[in-house]
Amino acid sequence: MTATEDSAGPVDNSKSVRSTLRALPYHAAQITGGFWANTQQVNRSVSLPHGFAMLEQAGNFRNLRMASGQEEGAFSGYWFADSDVYKWLEAVGWELGRAPDGTLQEMAAAAVALVEAAQQADGYLNSYFQTAASGKRWTDLDHGHELYCAGHLIQAAVAWYRAVGDDRLLTISLRFVDHIYELFGPAGRAETCGHPEIETALVELFRVTGDQRHLDLAQLFIDRRGRNTMRGHAGYGPVYQQDHVPVRQATEVAGHAVRQLYLTTGATDLYMERGEQALLDAMNTLWADMAERKLYVTGGVGSRFDGEAFGGPYELPADTCYCETCAAIASLMWNWRLSLITGQGRYADLFERTLYNGVLSSPGLEGASYLYVNPLHVRGGRYVRASADTGTGAEQMRPAWHSCACCPPNVMRVFASLGHYMATTNDFGVQIHQYAAAHLDLRVNGESVAIDVETDYPWDGQLSLKVRECPAAPWALSLRVPGWCRQATVSVNGNELAPSINENGYLVLERSWRPADELVLTLHMKPEYIAPHPRIDAIRGCVAVQRGPLVYCFESHDQPAGVDLLDVKVVSNEPLSVEPVAILGGVKAVYVTGQATTAKWGGSLYQPLEEVAEAESRRVQLVAMPYFTWGNRGMQSMRVWVPKQDV
Ligand SMILES: [Zn+2]
Repeated sequence: MTATEDSAGPVDNSKSVRSTLRALPYHAAQITGGFWANTQQVNRSVSLPHGFAMLEQAGNFRNLRMASGQEEGAFSGYWFADSDVYKWLEAVGWELGRAPDGTLQEMAAAAVALVEAAQQADGYLNSYFQTAASGKRWTDLDHGHELYCAGHLIQAAVAWYRAVGDDRLLTISLRFVDHIYELFGPAGRAETCGHPEIETALVELFRVTGDQRHLDLAQLFIDRRGRNTMRGHAGYGPVYQQDHVPVRQATEVAGHAVRQLYLTTGATDLYMERGEQALLDAMNTLWADMAERKLYVTGGVGSRFDGEAFGGPYELPADTCYCETCAAIASLMWNWRLSLITGQGRYADLFERTLYNGVLSSPGLEGASYLYVNPLHVRGGRYVRASADTGTGAEQMRPAWHSCACCPPNVMRVFASLGHYMATTNDFGVQIHQYAAAHLDLRVNGESVAIDVETDYPWDGQLSLKVRECPAAPWALSLRVPGWCRQATVSVNGNELAPSINENGYLVLERSWRPADELVLTLHMKPEYIAPHPRIDAIRGCVAVQRGPLVYCFESHDQPAGVDLLDVKVVSNEPLSVEPVAILGGVKAVYVTGQATTAKWGGSLYQPLEEVAEAESRRVQLVAMPYFTWGNRGMQSMRVWVPKQDV
């Protein structure tokens, strides 16, 4: 079996009843150069082999060998350790779909063989419950993560089936899902998993198989939430496991952020297939709560370490925030599905903000280390916990791996499949949502369209799109004008056009395109200050620097000698300037005028207001670098939000 030209990517909504945009076949969008090609290359050549080595070192592969009787010993890591293997396999599947690679193929073949050998005769598969907790399978759905792990297995299977045309993992998944259906299907136990994930996976499996049982099972797992019976981990209560309210009645994003957003992703998938309006209404309410009250400027979500949870409205501290990488990735997945359903640019905007900042900050630039939490303010390297459960609080670099290693392979699978999220089609034409140098080779109403995109995005806002092949009849090329962009100009074959941006935030050019037509879109990109909502107490009076899709941060490495980031302000009514610099792999730095202050304060933390003397200050030039590059030169002090002072 081989993958066909029409094989889908991570989401196949070609038959979904509620979608306005169609995701492209997997091979239709290829990133060919620039920023994202480089990121994908690092992921392919460094991160994926690194992941394989870490999964061996951490014992994940050994757990599977023990489950199949090939080895003896003690179980290593968390009881959901198999899911790291599956996410890594999913990443390799998408990657091999882009281009073959003998070494990765060999590594993956070894891992698939372990998974295959570990599966039990009745289809069950989970190395923890086959070894350390033998005899206890399906006894603790609240905490056991068995269905969660099954979900990641299914997603890996879908990737291999679609991208590579290999059905070994799919066969394993189908046997496991038969077993799950028998136990938890309409005639089975009315229970669900404490960690959502299998819902979105089962909908995608349905999109592969067309088997209604797979969709029914996804719906059952969604419908069974909100009974208030799961007690949560460590006393967090049912909200921790998304059991506090039925999905359709939820009015706010709450609890464990990854669980919340995997659940909304699955519920949104279910809406796409069944069209139940109550589900979409709930998703709209939850999205607004997240985007308008609980979102960091980086796109990160989850403001509390405690329970890895969403906080209350406007509870967005910069220093003690959690912002788990997986939560940002879950947000990407959810926003992508909402884009497909509505065609609204606000979802692709948030996808972009989250991708370039909240996700890209996790991997080190070298590709072999990862952040689990992504803070916006670090004092002297402290508060960068390596993981949810470990870490001394004073790591000097990104850790190479984590005891709970959910984030690294999650990043790997997103980067490997990134082309999927760039563009879509509908009956009227092509929509481009994310910008990268790429080759698009797709079909509009059965006719071939080929487009080359050239750009130095995100460093530069100019995009050149050359039409290589197209039908003679008119069709529309739609380009997202990002929310951050307030001035866009467009020309076709050198003739400037008046840009008309539709209500969804897309510039739509409908015309009889001809091969060799060239469209140039310029998204004017200038560095600017961003102000926070006045209710966010933690950063009131502060501003952040943003340029295009990139949020910037100030790291102590780049500031003048003797300037402490705890004692600076920016002079926000003076202009910012931008310069390319050769460090950090080649980035654009932003220079701002600042004030370094010396408070006349004494030893006490608090003073009567009337006795506070004015601080001395001196003008300094402060340097901001893209947030995603922070911590690559050793972790010192870093901050995104800085108090402002107008002079
Ligand atoms: Zn994670």
